[in-house]
Amino acid sequence: RKGNVIVTGASSGLGLATAKALAETGQWHVIMACRNFLKAEKAAKSAGMSKESHTVMHLDLASLDSVRQFVDNFRRSGMPLDVLVCNAAVYLPTAKEPTFTAEGFELSVGTNHLGHFLLSRLLLEDLKQSDYSSKRLIIVGSITGNTNTLAGNVPPKANLGDLRGLAGGLNGVNSSPMIDGGEFDGAKAYKDSKVCNMLTMQEFHRRYHEETGITFASLYPGCIAETGLFREHVPLFRLLFPPFQKYITKGYVSEEEAGKRLAQVVSEPYLTKSGVYWSWNKNSASFENQLSKEASDAEKARKVWEVSEKLVGLA
Ligand code: NDP
Repeated sequence: RKGNVIVTGASSGLGLATAKALAETGQWHVIMACRNFLKAEKAAKSAGMSKESHTVMHLDLASLDSVRQFVDNFRRSGMPLDVLVCNAAVYLPTAKEPTFTAEGFELSVGTNHLGHFLLSRLLLEDLKQSDYSSKRLIIVGSITGNTNTLAGNVPPKANLGDLRGLAGGLNGVNSSPMIDGGEFDGAKAYKDSKVCNMLTMQEFHRRYHEETGITFASLYPGCIAETGLFREHVPLFRLLFPPFQKYITKGYVSEEEAGKRLAQVVSEPYLTKSGVYWSWNKNSASFENQLSKEASDAEKARKVWEVSEKLVGLA
């Protein structure tokens, strides 16, 4: 049978390119988990994805109710789950004030980390039940959360501190909207959320890989300078960022190439190692990359896991 893969945020950018790449192999049915149903349908159509290759299901990661409802809907479809890709994200670098999810969490960490945390914890059960030969849970990471890289050292740097803001619920009322308890900074909140994504993947690996055989992986597909991720940025930035990445840092990658890379992590037999953070070199060859000190701190991973469990109502 075909494999079934859920891709969150498949309505644009990397998620759409990945959905397209997987659909084109004929080996995968892609469940596009998107907040805007119509946009996703249109995107799939204009990407040339056939009707049989995909199903669009509504998922708004900025609402835990919606996450739970999505899981119910998916289960009711009767499809087994073979691979889950947590790809969706928001990035609010110019926001002066924080905005919040339905439950009142700061929007970037609430969407990118907490929404995906609940989703993947619930769907772990479905992955366990699948009889597929190579089951995987993939969370898209980023270089920007990794302070052991040049890009990760552009201020404001990611830093989760002692998690006091996260433990307080990131609500901006009786706790800071930032994980480390500091002043709101949209760019930092995004980087922090990506550190949480990478820590979550490793904690999943430590807790569940041996018992379940599921591959838990993260990746940095390269800088996809033209995706919607930068839609909130100032116009001058959006104009200069793609050529800067192409000619100066040489980290630029097209949406199509990045989608192929993520599709490899979903399906290639040579990328089944668990607990790994994948990157690609200039010749587009994959390699196991090092995470920064904070993004590979096992004690912090455990704490983020435990605090997040409480926030999403699992503990
Ligand atoms: P896009 O903005 O193009 O895609 C983000 C996707 O997430 C969109 O489909 C968007 O939906 C969806 N999304 C946002 N909020 C929600 C929500 N509340 N519920 C459900 N879906 C939501 O950005 P990219 O393709 O660049 O980003 C994809 C991933 O790649 C992210 O995890 C990002 O961190 C990562 N990444 C990107 C890099 C880059 O250079 N662009 C580099 C490294 C990592 P909608 O279409 O409705 O807006």
